[in-house]
Amino acid sequence: MADYPTDPNCIFCKINKGEIPCHKLYEDERVLAFLDIGPLSEGHALIIPKSHYATIDEVPADDAAAMGRIAPAMSKAIMQATGAKSWNLLQNNGSDAGQAVGHVHLHIIPRVAGDAREAPTPGNGLPFKWPAGEVDHGKAEELAKAITDMLA
Ligand code: AMP
Ligand code: ZN
Repeated sequence: MADYPTDPNCIFCKINKGEIPCHKLYEDERVLAFLDIGPLSEGHALIIPKSHYATIDEVPADDAAAMGRIAPAMSKAIMQATGAKSWNLLQNNGSDAGQAVGHVHLHIIPRVAGDAREAPTPGNGLPFKWPAGEVDHGKAEELAKAITDMLA
């Protein structure tokens, strides 16, 4: 892993190279984890691959596996350190999905009861519940076939 793709203008590549400081939580050959500088809650952390890829569909399986491999232990350590019992593992792809930094990353966001307020206080929760709709089984069957065809 001595040589991997980076983007000189990317803030996370700069963090990985040590050009910008971070509160480092974990590092191995393929991934780096650090505290988010604009936390949605105490303990909000990011896991990034050291290689620069914009979105998850671009990430080779080995780097994706390395990100996933550390997610359980990172989650456990953050929950133990903060006392939170719940958290979201979030991953934004593209600006319409809220991605601001174009270097793929996993968010670990501790949650506490009642933090999904209508007008959340900055740094004090995530305005996120789960507004489930109802599935249209006809459309779902067509869509499932289209997706499985793409995977084949
Ligand atoms: P996203 O909206 O999914 O692209 O999330 C990007 C995250 O990166 C945000 O939560 C930012 O607060 C965080 N972030 C941006 N710059 C830095 C930095 N220098 N150190 C740590 N986190 C950062
Ligand atoms: Zn980058």
